[in-house]
Amino acid sequence: MLSGSISLERNQPGSILLQIMEKTLIIFKPDCMQKKLMGTVLSRFETAGFSVAGCKMMRLDSPLLREHYAHIADEPFFPNIESFMSSEPVVAMILEGENVIKKVRDLLGPTDSTQALAGTIRGDFGETVMVNVVHASDSSESAVAEIRRFFTDHDYIK
Ligand code: ADP
Repeated sequence: MLSGSISLERNQPGSILLQIMEKTLIIFKPDCMQKKLMGTVLSRFETAGFSVAGCKMMRLDSPLLREHYAHIADEPFFPNIESFMSSEPVVAMILEGENVIKKVRDLLGPTDSTQALAGTIRGDFGETVMVNVVHASDSSESAVAEIRRFFTDHDYIK
């Protein structure tokens, strides 16, 4: 399966551990790159136990952004998002781990950085509702679609 797999492991004689491994798509946004925060943020993900399964730097163009943000492409603030997200190259990354989709969203905090608690990535490093450091898939369906959008099958570790 592309976004997740379930495995049963014997961790002790007689007991079985259920592991649900997932993949999620994250993007280190232009503010994160500009402030040289990618290493700091990635370190939080790795410390939480997640692994990098794919990574590429790219400049996001308008058709890709309209597809990626289709759910808000008609909002009056979308032109601002488009110019922010295309202002300089970003890094798209696939992270893998147990329950990674929800746990990464928890590590980020809410969309609006001004509402995010200290200790979350957006609370510590974000500026506004738009300038909020990192994108992360919000569901397993989004993760599958977003990984396909940014990576070919040859580009990442299965
Ligand atoms: P999230 O990225 O937390 O999943 P959304 O999918 O709702 O949030 O929005 C995508 C991105 O669009 C946000 O991360 C943020 O950069 C930007 N955004 C969302 N809402 C607004 C808003 N009201 N004004 C400006 N930018 C916004």
